[in-house]
Parts: sequence; structure tokens; C-alpha cells
Amino acid sequence: AKQEGRNRFCFFSGDLEESLLQRHALELKLRHAIENDELIVVYQPKFNLKTKNIVGAEALVRMVDENNQLISPVEFIPIAEDSGLIVPLGNQVLLKACTQAAKWLKEGMPISVSVNVAAAQFADPDLEAIIIEVLNQTQLPPHYLELEITETALMGDINETQTKLSVLKGLGINISIDDFGTGYSSLSYLKKFNVDIMKIDMSFVIDMLNNTHDYEIVKTIILLGQSLSLTLIAEGVETEEQAQALMELGCGIGQGYLYSKPLRKKEFMTFLESATKN
Ligand code: C2E
Ligand code: CA
Ligand code: CA
Ligand code: CA
Repeated sequence: AKQEGRNRFCFFSGDLEESLLQRHALELKLRHAIENDELIVVYQPKFNLKTKNIVGAEALVRMVDENNQLISPVEFIPIAEDSGLIVPLGNQVLLKACTQAAKWLKEGMPISVSVNVAAAQFADPDLEAIIIEVLNQTQLPPHYLELEITETALMGDINETQTKLSVLKGLGINISIDDFGTGYSSLSYLKKFNVDIMKIDMSFVIDMLNNTHDYEIVKTIILLGQSLSLTLIAEGVETEEQAQALMELGCGIGQGYLYSKPLRKKEFMTFLESATKN
């Protein structure tokens, strides 16, 4: 197969060949990082827009390169998805995030952690068993764990999705629809799926105060979420004005550079300690 692969490269030239090689190199690096447990998880705090208290954190994966620089998931998540590595990757992130949240709790900082669940991971028949195992192992009370799942990942077989969500909810964890508004949002699905949280995609938030169209979308998503009694989170909150506007529209929670970038676990601890002191 290697030989064939090499020959096939001959059909491509220049940039395409280069990008295929880069992709391949990144896949090898990723495989190595997973096998040696070298993935890093950073945490981005989520804030109650009114009280300005930290209510949770999103776990976001990073890879470290030879020069100790962090590689963005935007570069390697698609590769992980194509190669099937996304499942072991996601499971490692889940374990690390729950370990961390259990630690925060033990140290008097009871905040929830959310973990991104890719479509292939959601479809994995072992998902429930893995989550139960991780909760047992880390002793994290389930209501401190939240799963962020995109609409697209939920859009498989409706009955299967419904059953799966019920089982997960039955464990006591919370389910969030990630990047809401960017996928195939459908009212009938939303009503059928037992979810708790709706995350408004940052593409609508970033420009909401300059673009009336985006503002109306955000407003409509919030109304929709409220009518379904869901908790609303806005991602990509970068300014005080956006936070204010979101709060006025009825969104409860914000996440974004206004508050903090994703932080390494040590930095996050320091951030948490200073935030909970005052
Ligand atoms: P996402 O789930 O929508 O995560 C939010 C992304 O927005 C993060 O990028 C975060 O750093 C960035 N962000 C947060 N606040 C702001 C802001 O105020 N302004 C701007 N411009 N950006 C902000 P990140 O960490 O690069 O992650 C990118 C995507 O990679 C995530 O998007 C998620 O889809 C995926 N991802 C990250 N970690 C994992 C993981 O463990 N598993 C899976 N399946 N996907 C992951
Ligand atoms: Ca997310
Ligand atoms: Ca998101
Ligand atoms: Ca997003």
C-alpha cells in the first residue's frame, strides 16, 4: 500500500502533494501523541453574564509540537475525524477533563466541565460505558459533566439519538447542542431531543452589534431556547457591549476572550482562585 501511495502522489503536483504530506505527518504525530498520552487539554471559563461568576469551563484539546508550541485543533481534528483517531482522542480528553473537574471540586471550586463529542464518538456504541467508567474512576458527580454535541452529530437515526440521549441524561450528565444555528437546526428535532443547553455559535455573536441580521439571529435563537426551557450560552463573547446585549436578550452564560482565552490547567487554577477570592 505504501508503494501505491507513493505512486499516487505522482498524479498530484506542488501544493497538493505538499499538503498531503503535511497531513500524513500530522496524522503520525497525532497517533504518537495519543499512544503516549501527550495530548494537552486547555480550559476556557464560562461566566454567568449577570453575576459574573464562573459557572463552568470548556475542555479544548491541543497538541504540542517539537518546539513546545501548541497546535490548534482546527488543524488536527479534521484529520482525527478522517482517520478514526477522534474516538481515542475524545476519550482521552474526557478522562482528563473529568479528572480536572473532580480536582477543582475537591479544592472547593465546584464548576462543571464540558467536553466536545464528535459525531463518530457519539455514534460509538461504547460511549455510555466509557462515560460511566470515567465517572467512576474520577469520582466526578455526573451533574458536573456536560457533553457538547453538534446538531450534525445528532442528525443520524432519530430513534437511536433519542435513546442515546435518554441514557446519557439518565446518568445525570448535561447535554449541550454546540454551534447552534450552523447545522441543520430543526424545530421538530429540538423538541424530540432531551437536551439542556444551547450554545449559540460565535459566528453570530462576533458581529451581532454591527450586523442587524446576526443580531436578529441571536435574538431568535435565544427566544427559541427560552421557549424550550434550555440554558443559553453564547460563545465568542469579545466585548463588554456584546455581553450586555446578550444579557438583555435573555442569554444567561457567556464564554469568550472578553473573560479569558483557554488556559493550561495551572493557569486556569490561578485564574479560578483569583476569581473566587473576591
Ligand atoms: P468550538 O467547540 O466551537 O470551540 C470554541 C472555539 O472558539 C475554541 O477554539 C476557542 O478557543 C475559540 N474561542 C473562544 N472564545 C473566543 C473568542 O472570544 N473569539 C474567538 N475568535 N474565538 C474564541 P479551539 O480551541 O481552537 O477549538 C476549535 C474547535 O476544535 C472547537 O470549536 C471544536 O469544534 C474542536 N475541538 C476542540 N477540542 C476538541 C475535542 O476535544 N474534541 C473534539 N471532538 N473537538 C474539539
Ligand atoms: Ca464546543
Ligand atoms: Ca462551539
Ligand atoms: Ca463554534
